[in-house]
Amino acid sequence: METKFVADVMLGRLSKWLRVMGFDVHYQSHYKEGALESLVAEGRRLLSRRAKAVEEDANAVWIQSDHVHEQLQEFKTKTGLASDRSKWFTRCLRCNVPLEKGSSKAPLESVPDYVLHQEVPDIHGCPVCGRFYWPGSHRTKMTLQLEEWGF
Ligand SMILES: [Zn+2]
Repeated sequence: METKFVADVMLGRLSKWLRVMGFDVHYQSHYKEGALESLVAEGRRLLSRRAKAVEEDANAVWIQSDHVHEQLQEFKTKTGLASDRSKWFTRCLRCNVPLEKGSSKAPLESVPDYVLHQEVPDIHGCPVCGRFYWPGSHRTKMTLQLEEWGF
């Protein structure tokens, strides 16, 4: 089964990039007392900047670097999980849920005209926030960045 993760408050940028690569990473900029522990108890593996978290939870992944590209390398080395390019851009970067092809609760007006007029074949929508995702310059930029980092 696919490993699910929960990241502590220090790991917002890492969470975003892991979601770009399709990993299931729960992230909040603030957790109530005990919330992280509950998410771990539900089966999520903890990603943490705190050495102490790893002392308390042998299954936790200690992320030591402050730099996101190094954090991604640490994630790769410490979890042994390879990046699967077929999974890139399949998850909402905001909500952490899988995108659905062409369907969304959002009105179509949220897609810029130029995208519709070009008949982009690969529009996906988030079933939670209604945000649309499609191949474009933003995605190309993120792909180049990941490739530069060796993914
Ligand atoms: Zn969303």
